Amino acid sequence: MAKTFLVIAEAREGNLRQISLEALGAAHQSKNDDDKVAVLLVGHQITTLAQSLSAANEVYSIDHPDLQNYTPDHYYQALMQVINQIKPNAIYFGHTAIGRDLAPKIAAELDAGQISDVTSIEKNGDDVLFTRPIYAGKAFETRKFSAEPWVVTFRPNNIAKAEASLESEFHELDYAASSARHQVQDVVYKKAGAIDLSEANVIISGGRGVKSEQGFEPLQKLADLLGGAVGASRGACDAEYCDYSLQIGQTGKVVTPDLYIACGISGAIQHLAGMSQSKVIVAVNKDAEAPIFQVADYGIVGDLFDIVPLLQEKLEKELVK
Ligand SMILES: Cc1cc2nc3c(=O)[nH]c(=O)nc-3n(C[C@H](O)[C@H](O)[C@H](O)COP(=O)(O)OP(=O)(O)OC[C@H]3O[C@@H](n4cnc5c(N)ncnc54)[C@H](O)[C@@H]3O)c2cc1C
Repeated sequence: MAKTFLVIAEAREGNLRQISLEALGAAHQSKNDDDKVAVLLVGHQITTLAQSLSAANEVYSIDHPDLQNYTPDHYYQALMQVINQIKPNAIYFGHTAIGRDLAPKIAAELDAGQISDVTSIEKNGDDVLFTRPIYAGKAFETRKFSAEPWVVTFRPNNIAKAEASLESEFHELDYAASSARHQVQDVVYKKAGAIDLSEANVIISGGRGVKSEQGFEPLQKLADLLGGAVGASRGACDAEYCDYSLQIGQTGKVVTPDLYIACGISGAIQHLAGMSQSKVIVAVNKDAEAPIFQVADYGIVGDLFDIVPLLQEKLEKELVK
């Protein structure tokens, strides 16, 4: 019997998050020819955005002022409304703050199995195999589900985005709003237009070696040049050189950019847990024995305050050619 793969899309500040297209890509990789891909976007004033989602057979949107900002109660009720209606065989989320919050709740409600933080997917006949890092990235495990429905979250920047352009059917649903135990009063964005660390293709990260808040300035300049974001080790956050929202690692954000440049970071295991899956890792450290060099593809032994401006100068010349 044909299956339905439901992808939960996310929007932020009027834009669709990249991970939504990646989760759609995962749905296309999982399905057989007869199966259907459905996508659901909930929020406020998101109908036009939902209509741009062309990589699904069915597009569902629920637009309501109560869904303007994420609250577990309202989003859960909106999602369950569609899940109860279409009874999907699989539900795919991004491994984002929202996905991590809602996926287990939905899985528990449906008595479904869940696999989190998946970085690759493979089809083996009718089976879908999900691989994810374990033990802080030191090993990988591959799992499959033995019963439906199943719930999966995908780590951003790992699965190829869906390219398909299908003739989708659009369904704009009313939100049968019920009560929520709390409401968001206000959302204050730290920096307008800043690139989301978990979706950035390039990350320039600073550790205790940057020595001060001002020490991050050359890193920010390089990130701006490369269209990337600035991240940090917990050492730098603890020293109050930057905000904890920049922390990468076991107790911070997990990132998988194409390029990760670690500046003045020793490479503690807890930091590696958040960045070791990056595609290309460059380490700049004045200590040639620093453990970060063991995971780096390219290592530069030297003072970051000499090296980062040099990289900036060289890259500026290369990029304007
Ligand atoms: C439960 C737990 C959870 C944790 N979670 C995290 C986490 O999520 N993320 C995280 O990052 N850490 C985490 N940590 C902390 C982690 O163990 C390390 O203490 C931390 O990562 C160290 O940060 P650092 O590399 O910036 O500092 P340090 O270890 O002090 O390293 C600084 C490095 O900078 C180099 N350096 C100094 N000056 C320069 C210069 N001018 N130019 C070039 N290099 C220079 C030094 O050679 C050194 O290698 C956690 C720890 C625990 C116990």
